Amino acid sequence: MPRRVSILGATGSIGQNTIDLIRRDAGDYDVVALTGAGNIAQLAADAIELGADVAVTARDDLLDELRAALQGSGVEAAAGAGALVEVAARPADWIMSAIVGAAGLAPGFAALEQGSTLALANKESLVCAGKILLDTARTKGTTILPVDSEHSAIFQALVGEDISAIERIIITASGGAFRDWPLQDLPQATLDQASSHPNWDMGQRITIDSASMFNKAMEVIETREFFGVDPAQIEVLVHPQSMIHALVGFNDGGLMAHVGPPDMRHAIGYALHYPHRKRLPVERLDFAAIGQFEFRAPDDVRWPALRLAREAMATGGMMGAVFNAAKEAALDGFVAGQINFVQMAEVVEDTMTHLDHQSGLIHATMTLDNVYKVDHLAREAAKAAIDKRAG
Ligand code: NDP
Repeated sequence: MPRRVSILGATGSIGQNTIDLIRRDAGDYDVVALTGAGNIAQLAADAIELGADVAVTARDDLLDELRAALQGSGVEAAAGAGALVEVAARPADWIMSAIVGAAGLAPGFAALEQGSTLALANKESLVCAGKILLDTARTKGTTILPVDSEHSAIFQALVGEDISAIERIIITASGGAFRDWPLQDLPQATLDQASSHPNWDMGQRITIDSASMFNKAMEVIETREFFGVDPAQIEVLVHPQSMIHALVGFNDGGLMAHVGPPDMRHAIGYALHYPHRKRLPVERLDFAAIGQFEFRAPDDVRWPALRLAREAMATGGMMGAVFNAAKEAALDGFVAGQINFVQMAEVVEDTMTHLDHQSGLIHATMTLDNVYKVDHLAREAAKAAIDKRAG
């Protein structure tokens, strides 16, 4: 029987890598739903090629365009945030959650509710609502498999291990585009410069988040949520080659490292075939040719995002949702040219301080509705912080 699969965020970087793997063994899969937002041509082409039941764009205004592109193919077309949730709730064995941003939360919950295994690339779900996401998976008896390369690496390093013996978890960071820039040049960093990653080929938003280290900061929170360790047990290590993705240290002093090429198809393929390992089309590392790996401690002045993530974890409650929303809004402000690269962290810090004063709200019971409420307020506060700087 072919496995029924859906890909949320199919037109993005993770989505396209997932399709690349599925296309290679197309007969093994029955594609239920593919979703995208603005890239209708790609969405329609993939949905037709893979014989999906339904294709959904998040944008209501593009429904007619999607319908036209799918005409005569037999693939159903739908649009809007509600449709994303509706198709995520359609029975499937495995669903890839690869929508970018907080928009990925509700479809991810819908996928878990209907009992599908969730391959989770959308780190925002864990940062904003980790507790209720994991509770939902537990209640429904469904599995969440991490797709972020660091978390897939930790997950793999823990197979067969005694979880209670974890002493520390080290996640690595390439350092992004500005790792070696003089600090005084950072305010002048352009959008093009921030959008180019030294090792990974990813979507634009996560690439900029890698340069600012907001991506790693999100991953520290993600690690805390997913693996249930104390924030003090999580370390970040700059490793420019991006080949050791994470290390898990145990209380006997031993470490398990996960090493592989910087190619997301490894982590995606691991989640797709779990608990089996199948041959994947990724480069095989030649250590003699690589010669050496470098490591250095992260610099808190260059990357204030790491400190802010630790502050968000110390506050607890729904401060993760504030952190994420402020980061998304600040990134929009940078992309729109309203604030410079360095001001993104200032906007996040101002927003966290502002929302911290409403601590009753931050510490209210975590529900999806409350997370969205907090997300909305944080975006408004971040927008005010951006407007102040934009003059
Ligand atoms: P991309 O920007 O490349 O793709 C994002 C996907 O989400 C696209 O399909 C896009 O549609 C869709 N989308 C955009 N806005 C919305 C919206 N408002 N509602 C619904 N769908 C929307 O992102 P990535 O693939 O890089 O990242 C996806 C997720 O995976 C993120 O959470 C990221 O942090 C995480 N991740 C990514 C990694 C990577 O290597 N890229 C590594 C680890 C984690 P369209 O393109 O049609 O507009």
